[in-house]
Formats: sequence, structure tokens, C-alpha cells
Amino acid sequence: MHDKIHPIPEEWARAARLDTAAYDSLYRQSIENPDVFWAEQAKRIDWIQPFTKVKNTSFELGDVAIRWFEDGVLNVSANCLDRHLATRGDKVAILWEGDDPSESRAITYRELHAEVNRFANVLKRLGVEKGDRVTIYLPMIPEAAMAMLACTRIGAMHSVVFGGFSPDSLAGRIGDCHSKVVITADEGVRGGKKVPLKHNTDLALTRTIGDEKVLVIRRTGSEVAMHAGRDYWYHELAAAVPDFCEPEPMSAEDPLFILYTSGSTGRPKGVLHTTGGYLLHAAMSHEIVFDLREDDVFWCTADIGWVTGHSYIVYGPLANGATSVMFEGIPNYPTTSRFWEVVDKHKVTIFHTAPTAIRALMQGGEEPVKSTSRASLRLLGSVGEPINPEAWEWYHRVVGDGRCPIVDTWWQTETGGILITPFPGATPLKPGSASWPFFGVQPAIVDGDGKILEGACEGNLVILDSWPGQMRTVYGDHERFEQTYFSAYKGMYFTGDGCRRDADGYYWITGRVDDVINVSGHRMGTAEVESALVSNHSVSEAAVVGYPHDIKGQGIYAYVTLMQGVTPSEDLKKQLKDWVRREIGPIATPDLIQFAPGLPKTRSGKIMRRILRKIAEDEFGALGDITTLSDPSVVEDLIANRQNRR
Ligand code: ATP
Ligand code: MG
Repeated sequence: MHDKIHPIPEEWARAARLDTAAYDSLYRQSIENPDVFWAEQAKRIDWIQPFTKVKNTSFELGDVAIRWFEDGVLNVSANCLDRHLATRGDKVAILWEGDDPSESRAITYRELHAEVNRFANVLKRLGVEKGDRVTIYLPMIPEAAMAMLACTRIGAMHSVVFGGFSPDSLAGRIGDCHSKVVITADEGVRGGKKVPLKHNTDLALTRTIGDEKVLVIRRTGSEVAMHAGRDYWYHELAAAVPDFCEPEPMSAEDPLFILYTSGSTGRPKGVLHTTGGYLLHAAMSHEIVFDLREDDVFWCTADIGWVTGHSYIVYGPLANGATSVMFEGIPNYPTTSRFWEVVDKHKVTIFHTAPTAIRALMQGGEEPVKSTSRASLRLLGSVGEPINPEAWEWYHRVVGDGRCPIVDTWWQTETGGILITPFPGATPLKPGSASWPFFGVQPAIVDGDGKILEGACEGNLVILDSWPGQMRTVYGDHERFEQTYFSAYKGMYFTGDGCRRDADGYYWITGRVDDVINVSGHRMGTAEVESALVSNHSVSEAAVVGYPHDIKGQGIYAYVTLMQGVTPSEDLKKQLKDWVRREIGPIATPDLIQFAPGLPKTRSGKIMRRILRKIAEDEFGALGDITTLSDPSVVEDLIANRQNRR
């Protein structure tokens, strides 16, 4: 449908660290000789004790075990902080931008080192030991990164829970890993509104076994209830501890953190990552995919509650000694120019965001972008969902003024770091395609029976062998880990995503496999129909699901959010159906269109098609868990205006 290619810009080709030929040869080496390749790459990390064994992994059901650099010893916080002090002590590590544009803070590596050490000593005072779990329920303030790094300093596992989650969701996550300490703040601030984090924590702790301690960061200064013997102010404890704490020597396979997946498809899983392989993958991918240079100002707009925030706000950038921007606010506060004003204010060079944010900003038109300079930008990134070619082109043309390559990075909480991506300077870009495998990653496309398809094809995306950043288990439930990822196809990691490979070998993620629809025997990724709808100038966002259809097997049901100022009408529905028919073909014509002012999204901004499917099936009594939705009220409107009433 969309086969435009953006060639590598000349200045990128000239300055590239990695050109197309270099990518090819390095990639081949990483697959043919992984032990040599990874031993070389692992020099990026400072090891307290070097490893002798690189890879020891098995994808065999019943015996799945992933081990990398297993006899090596290291400490993550020492890699992110101590080793930079001699050369980058006064370089800014975290550039914090508050929700209120008048608030910002630049924290150097030396300052961050001191504060993380103090934080680690505070955790020790609270009785946290190596191997214990610590839940972090914080807004996007520097203390969130400090808390994570402090855990790694003493060998405790952190479990970051997004600050937008409800007391119930928080309680479930504290209980699942039995955290010893919960770190929270009096309140968070987002879009000018206060979020009662401490209050939510109090509610959550009425639903756990109740032996947790609570460490409270002061953010707004509002009065909050403090329970004697359970709750402690961070600033009070921090004032009484030294600013050095010996880093705990950790084995490469010691657990680093647990992170619960966002819950788009069901009950969240406690994804467990370990120390050596994860850090290497985060650091290496951050440097190569984003073409990191010493003077870059790197801004990833994710929340640290998601894996993107873990790998590309905290661990990757800090391991690389980069300047990482951390933003407390939201894209449309105080105005829809906020992202670009922050870019200009901090001279951001690399900007990484999610398609949901781009689509939302597109709705407001070009003016709020064009009124800013953005001259500092040189590279753009996208992550989290397939990006429609229409949104890609807008991002490229309007935000990047046509100058900046876009890296559309595909990966998962489970993969630890990026697995499929363009390489700027090496990859001619195809809008909407995640493009090429990262080093050491062997993607394959299988049919329903697990047969590996060759050449240009479409099917289910699997990975054939392990890579260092791969998750090791589901916390406390190794059986669930094996069943979820290794039982569908023998000896392969199943991603749960559908994928197409084109004749040039580019990978195109077509959405989750659950979202593939089968219309009159034709398999179709919902992403394709959505992209066609979004390319119509009246449409701002679209979500497509299948529903039972007597003749076709499955019919196509499209939820459509219109651009500001466009009036919904039956005639417009007809126009949109004709539009899709012309763009893709008659087979893809939506049977039913519902205009939806809002779509159900997870807190990380992903459309929850599971719920849309139920409503389209007229089965809205059984929507399942909707607690991870960012705005559960949109569901009522969707049910009230559903199109398929049986
Ligand atoms: P859950 O697993 O709990 O349902 P989730 O899959 O949304 O939640 P994440 O691990 O944050 O949680 O997201 C990974 C998924 O996001 C991928 O499997 C894929 O479906 C989608 N995704 C991420 N990046 C891209 C991308 N660049 N292109 C297409 N899809 C992407
Ligand atoms: Mg997932």
C-alpha cells in the first residue's frame, strides 16, 4: 500500500558509524559467532570479575533457561555512575523538566552519584538487603531514577509501578512480589493536576499482608498522613546517612528488576530481568540505534513505569554517560507546543516518543509545532505500537522538518531492549516498517503450524535464539513463562505479534496476533486497515477489530475518532468505507463504523483492542479487567453507541 522509501540523508551517510555494509557484516558475525561477538561487546561494561562463559541458553519446553555471562560479576549503579566520575563528573546526567514549565533541574553525574549512594544507605537503614524487592510508585521526578539505581547498588530488585495506576493495581503488584519497602511521594503533578500517590499507597496497603515499610519523597509539600513505625520521610533519613555506599558485587544472572507488563492482553506478568545481559543490551542498543555522541541531549518521553523508561531513560543512557531528559508532565500542558518548547529549551538532539502521542499532536495541526524552532533535533524515535505511515510522514515532515531520520523501534518488556529497528546511517527508511534485526537477534516468521516461512511472507513473529537482554522468567511462576512464550512453537520464543517481511527483507509489525482478523478466508492485520483510515484527513485515530459475521466468518468493525471540528454523519461513514476500499481493496472494507470520541487505552497509551472486540461482539457484559485503562469512562460511551446489536 505504502512503499515510499526515504534514502539515507547525505550528512548521515557521511558521518555514519555504521553504514549498510558494516551493518551486514557485523550482523552476520553476531549470528554466526555469538560467543566471540558478545564477548567483544561486553567490554562496554565494567566487570568486577570477568566472565569466562558467554552464552548458555535453552528454549526447550520444560527446560527453558537463559543465562548470559553467568560467572561474571558487576554492579549496575557502578556502571551508570562511578565509572563516569573521572571523565564526566560535571556532565549533566539527568536534565529534569517539571510539569510546570518554570521548574527544571540539571543533575550532574557527581551529584547523582552522591544522591544514589545516600538513597542506597537509606534503603539499608530500612532493612533492605540483597535479593529483597522494593516497589517504586513515583511520579517522573529524579528521585525515581535515584531509587532504581539505589536498589541496584545494594542488589535489591525494584518493581516500578506507573504512578497512574490505582490502589488496587498497586496492591496486586506489591503483593505478587512481596515487597519489603514501597517508595512513593506525597503527591505527583501531571498536567497541572495533583495525583494523591501517598493516599493511594495507604489504600493499597490495606489490601496487602501489611508488613511493608513506606518511604515518602516530598514533591508538593501537601500534608499527608504518616503512620508511625511504617512510614518514613526520605529527606529525614537521607540527612542522617553518608553519601557513599559500597556497590554490591552482583553475579551477572542475579535479578535486577521485575516489571509488570502493561496489561493490554490480560493479567500482568512480572517480567524478570537480570543484571549483566540486560545492562549490556540496554547500553549497546541505546548507543547504536540512537547513534549516540558525547554531546547529545537524549529525550525519551516514556514514563519510567514502562520498560522504555527503564532501558532508555535510565539504564541505557546512564551506562553510556549520556545526558538524559526526564519529563514530569504531559504533551498538551500548558499548551500543545510543550514537547517542542522543551526541545528548544534544553536543545534536545534525539527525541523518542510513542505513536499515540504523535497521533494526538497531529490532531492539533502543524501550527503548534511550526511555531517552535526544533533546530537542535537530529534524530527521532518511535516505540510502543505500529506507527501508521501517515503519522510517520507527519512526524518526519512537520516535527523533523524533513531532516531527521526516524527509528521505529520494535521490542517488548520481555525483550529488555530493542530487537528490530532501522539503523540511522545504514537503513533506507520505509515509513511504518520496524526494518532490520538488531545484532544477535534472529527473527523468523512462522505459519500457524510453526513452519518457518521464507522470503516475502506474513505470519507470526518468533525469535529463534536468545539475546542478552531477554527476560529470564515470570517472577515466581516459571511455568507461566514457559507456557506463554515457548509452548506455541517448539524451540522458539513467540512474541505474540504478527509480522510481514517484504521482498527487501524489511520487517513490518502488523499488530498483536490476537488482533489479526480473518475475512472470508483472508488474513489481515488490523494495523493495515487502521492506517488506511487514519490516512483520511477527517480521521484522527482508528481501531479495528473483528466480530462474528454469518457470511464472511469475521466482519470488520472500525472505531473511528474524528479530527477536531469534523461532524460525524452516516454519509461520512459511507465515505470512509469507500476510502478503505480504494486504499486497500474491497476485502478490507469495514462492515461497521462507530464514531468514538475516545478509545480505551492502557496507561501507556496503547489501544486495548481486547475491550473493543468484546463490544463489537455485543458481549460487553464480560469485559474482563479494565483497571489498567487510563480512562475507564470511555467504555460506557462505546457500549451505548455500539453498532452490532444482536
Ligand atoms: P501485555 O503484554 O501486558 O499485553 P504490552 O504488550 O502492551 O502489554 P509492552 O511490552 O510494553 O506491553 O509492549 C510490547 C508490544 O508493543 C509489542 O509486543 C508490540 O505489540 C507493541 N510494539 C512495541 N513497539 C512497537 C513498534 N515499534 N512497532 C509495532 N509494535 C510495537
Ligand atoms: Mg506484550
